[in-house]
Amino acid sequence: MSKFVDVSNTKKSSIWRYFWESKASSEAQCQLCQRILKATGGSTKGLMDHLKLKHYDIYNQIQIQKASEPVTKRQRMDEIFKPKIKMDIQERISRFCAQDLISFSTLCNSKQIHEFFSKLGFNGPKAHKTVRKYVLEESQKVKNEVIEKLKKLKEDGKRFGHSRQQDCL
Ligand SMILES: [Zn+2]
Repeated sequence: MSKFVDVSNTKKSSIWRYFWESKASSEAQCQLCQRILKATGGSTKGLMDHLKLKHYDIYNQIQIQKASEPVTKRQRMDEIFKPKIKMDIQERISRFCAQDLISFSTLCNSKQIHEFFSKLGFNGPKAHKTVRKYVLEESQKVKNEVIEKLKKLKEDGKRFGHSRQQDCL
């Protein structure tokens, strides 16, 4: 079963007010009609198409909002950048584990690491569970990126009329 969560606070695009995301399955659930859609790598294109087709008034609203975005950006720099920093921290923690082989418990218990995070305005991970979650989410993200790249290569292959080889992807 896919677990859908509200990600409107962590995503830049206001479209996430209307969709909940399941990172594990790269899906999004429309909160207006409960329909489940593909959202590979957090892509919003399919979601936009869905709004346009099924909930045109909402789609229209988002378009109007987008047009007035520069003003909002200036007012809420902080809100926009904070989620991004948070994502970077999550990625960094995962790399500590996966590449530098720092153990979960070191990450949870090291005073240095916690001081470093608190300087950036964030709490370091306190439980193994949290670190584990980060690592899993990051590996899923990397996987999605690779899938997207392969898809793109495949599309390019089609466009240039390559034969057979494309079936391998
Ligand atoms: Zn819908």
